[in-house]
Amino acid sequence: MRGKQDHRLRPSPFPAVPGVVAGSTAEGAELRSVEPVRFQLAFDGMPDGPVRVTPARLAAWSACPRRYRFGYVDRPRPPRGPALPHTTLGAVLHNALRAFYEEPPERRTGERVRELVRGHWRDDGFADRRHSAEFLVRAQDWLSEYVERVAATAKPVGVEKWVSATTGRIIVQGRVDRVDERDGEFVIVDYKAGKRAPDGEEARNSLALALYALALRGMSHVRCRQVELHHLRTAEVVRWRHTADSLAEHRERAERLARQSREATAALGRGDSPDRVFPPRPGGQCAGCEFRRHCPEGQRAVPVVDPRALLGE
Ligand code: SF4
Repeated sequence: MRGKQDHRLRPSPFPAVPGVVAGSTAEGAELRSVEPVRFQLAFDGMPDGPVRVTPARLAAWSACPRRYRFGYVDRPRPPRGPALPHTTLGAVLHNALRAFYEEPPERRTGERVRELVRGHWRDDGFADRRHSAEFLVRAQDWLSEYVERVAATAKPVGVEKWVSATTGRIIVQGRVDRVDERDGEFVIVDYKAGKRAPDGEEARNSLALALYALALRGMSHVRCRQVELHHLRTAEVVRWRHTADSLAEHRERAERLARQSREATAALGRGDSPDRVFPPRPGGQCAGCEFRRHCPEGQRAVPVVDPRALLGE
């Protein structure tokens, strides 16, 4: 770690937004949660202004417009499918790690994280108690190794923290799994619990990670260029260090996706066909889509979904 950094506030590259924190982040300080901003989306008949987005929302639009409509436009929202074990597993691992960092540093051990996994464990979506118990043990082994190899020495300044900042066209909000401080910079850490370890391309191409880096920079004025994906099953870490240009590309992509989704929603409000402005995009992703049972195209694309395969057995 370099010497003491100058964290005095400098003019932000982002216009001020009501409710968005632009606080200092001197050593030891925590990122502060941000109160929800009171902007309305600029749909038809509503005041124009920045569009409030989350990375998850933009990813849903980019992956499948119909899925986006089911999740973010239709009200009441169509019922989601039953719980799936891989989503339960992901939630448990995230919750256990959040609790892990609430412990004092001397208690951040592999043994302690085993207890935390057990304490947060849920059976939702598993085939039966035996299936659930088998994965409980695996999850304890995974996190214990991850903690001992990677996480115990981390210096988080934020864990599951909401961040928010605006580019003028969009207001980015989201929850960052972890923000570490290294060498006077912030590093974005995102946990992955899927069966396949991510590669470096995914860290580079992740819109979410880039937006979080931009949001943190806008909130704190502390440099934030490095993003990391931590695969909790293997303790593998892939990194990417953004440049100003690569962050700008992600920002422009986010603004484009937000504009497209806003225009589609406005067209729906004018009476356009839902299937024309929010077309399905069937493919392998339909296997894990929570709205598949409402989507004939998705059911044809992936006729049978085996929850065990999603879990990685
Ligand atoms: S099942 Fe597939 S095509 Fe249908 S909404 Fe979900 S992701 Fe889109």
